[in-house]
Amino acid sequence: RQGRRFSVTASLDNAAFDPDVIKKDFPILGRRIRDDQRLVYLDSAATSQKPLQVLDAERDFYLHHNAAAHRGAHQLAEEATEGYESARETVAGFIGARADEIVFTRSATESVNLVAYAMNNASQAGEEYAGFRLGPGDEILVTEMEHHANLVPWQQLAGRTGATLRWVPLTDDGRLDATTFDELVGERTRLVAVTHQSNVLGTVNPVRALADRAHAVGAMLLVDGAQSVAHQPIDVMELGADFFAFSAHKMLGPNGIGVLWGRRDLLERMPPFLTGGSMIEEVRMDRTTFLAPPQRFEAGVPMAPQAVGLAAAVRYLEALGMKHVEAHENTLTRLALEALGDIDGVTVIGPRTTRDRGATIAFTVDGIHPHDVGQVLDDRGVAVRVGHHCARPICDRYGIPATARASFYLYNSADDVKALAEGVRAAQRYFL
Ligand code: PLP
Repeated sequence: RQGRRFSVTASLDNAAFDPDVIKKDFPILGRRIRDDQRLVYLDSAATSQKPLQVLDAERDFYLHHNAAAHRGAHQLAEEATEGYESARETVAGFIGARADEIVFTRSATESVNLVAYAMNNASQAGEEYAGFRLGPGDEILVTEMEHHANLVPWQQLAGRTGATLRWVPLTDDGRLDATTFDELVGERTRLVAVTHQSNVLGTVNPVRALADRAHAVGAMLLVDGAQSVAHQPIDVMELGADFFAFSAHKMLGPNGIGVLWGRRDLLERMPPFLTGGSMIEEVRMDRTTFLAPPQRFEAGVPMAPQAVGLAAAVRYLEALGMKHVEAHENTLTRLALEALGDIDGVTVIGPRTTRDRGATIAFTVDGIHPHDVGQVLDDRGVAVRVGHHCARPICDRYGIPATARASFYLYNSADDVKALAEGVRAAQRYFL
């Protein structure tokens, strides 16, 4: 049913963690690029590449089991439903959650919006949704390092409800200012929304401590896990969060599907976001009642093929072991920080040690615009991202127009770090 076996990766221990073996599962990484250059893909923070196991799982679904899940009593519909619901269990197991706490969405962006819109809807409804209602005097707390996906929905919610948006500033080395955080969390705080790992700075935030602080004043904590779930072991119970949002496409899975994990008691009390088919209990012309979570939050025909693909991605990551993935990326981060640190004129924007940071490294090069750095790298087959990376306030904080960003993943190797450093030196030779 699941197509390709995991023979290559299942037995890896860290000593044997060999990106060159892993790369064989990702045919795109064997591509030649530009002027017959080896592709060095350092843009996994934007989107990861997909292993054959994921592509095969999705293809197998379409070839043999395709039907609308949760509709119809025929065999294909049953198989589609089983694929979709067993994917929910697989994803739940991956993050230490219960299956009935996993809501499938279209993306991390939609997961955050789901909570923001539910709170907006609650604010317009009666006392039944009291825990989620916001109004003037209430506060939403975010940070200066948020991706726009975990900032703009809260700006909008504050605007619609009259609540106030506050934010935690950043230190010079790209971490949250803990003292100010403590000062900003107070009796008025209703929700804290924070990224687990910054998609620009690479900073990994101390979610457990933030959760304890938020809960001490009765606030909820939503964690944007889009950049962490692919790179380190996650246990939502240990994190202590109330909501955890992520996308499949950054963790080897398909595009078009994301996840919102929410604490069961909160999901049960939360009003829906999108409405329509699949999420209803009973519909009359003048009124409708809704199903219990997670179905309450999954309007429309379920994304079964994508869910099956995501489950295959999770199995791939589990076969490697997230601890090993994390350790491998930590090594690459150390090598990349050293290599970039050796180049005069290069400034890393974010933590410069591997402590509490992931393998996403943004940097500037004196005298060369990041777009030009990106261009020279691209000519050499090295794919990085340049710009503000959908987290524009970080550029404002550090007084820079943009950065170049190299982000490493399980299929990257020390040779890729070398290619990055050589490319930056080549840009300096060309422009300076
Ligand atoms: N949050 C963070 C930290 C991200 O890096 C991203 C994507 O870059 C998102 C949220 C949004 O993810 P998506 O575009 O898949 O919804």
